[in-house]
Amino acid sequence: MVSGVRLVVLGKQGAGKGTQCVRLSHHYVVPHVSTGDMLRAAVKSRTGLGLRAQSLMDAGELVPDDLIMDMVQERLSEADARSRGFVLDGAPRTIAQAKRLDEILAPERLDLVSDLDVPTQVVLRRLSARRVCEDCGTNYSLSSPPTVRWICDVCGGQVVQRDDDTEEAITRRLELYRRQTLPLLDFYTQANLLVTVNGSGDPERVTRRAVRAIEAALAAQGRPPSESS
Ligand code: AMP
Repeated sequence: MVSGVRLVVLGKQGAGKGTQCVRLSHHYVVPHVSTGDMLRAAVKSRTGLGLRAQSLMDAGELVPDDLIMDMVQERLSEADARSRGFVLDGAPRTIAQAKRLDEILAPERLDLVSDLDVPTQVVLRRLSARRVCEDCGTNYSLSSPPTVRWICDVCGGQVVQRDDDTEEAITRRLELYRRQTLPLLDFYTQANLLVTVNGSGDPERVTRRAVRAIEAALAAQGRPPSESS
């Protein structure tokens, strides 16, 4: 049997987090919990949260910690996440969110935090070429578009450029990443939870690298390897 995992994946915007989180969630048979996807769904269905978040998201600003972590708490309290764990994508993004996540999980704790490391020049190139299905969130790029022009291969939705993938918003998001999210690497190193994975190269190889690094770190904690690793 494949064991579940409680995993956070960190990385700059455009580091390939979304793609790797989907793959890792399949590997460990746990839900992929993406705060960006949840917020985009809230914006689309015009909920109270969506209406508050939309302009911040479009400008590349962060949504307030409490709003984000209330949403994360609600999702992590569902049966699938409670029984097998989760791959958390997009949060925490600040130290305050990381502390709140610890409180949400107590008396359990995170198993690991994986940082997908990709040079800034590479993420800038990837973000400006990124395209995404506005219905199911599947990622594409100018160099790897859907089979039929800008119609999603997975769900038939429209494939578009994200409103926050403009040059201005990208610059702002990377600046916020450096200021607010980078300190999390120290925070999780001190908690002995951080595993750094080289995120460059083709997605399949990056996943294999990530699983190897995660399994090695879990084994060091005394956990048996998952069967499909
Ligand atoms: P992402 O798809 O993860 O890049 O998230 C898109 C946008 O959603 C971000 O630029 C923020 O505006 C907002 N967002 C997502 N997750 C968080 C978070 N943990 N804290 C604050 N804002 C967030």
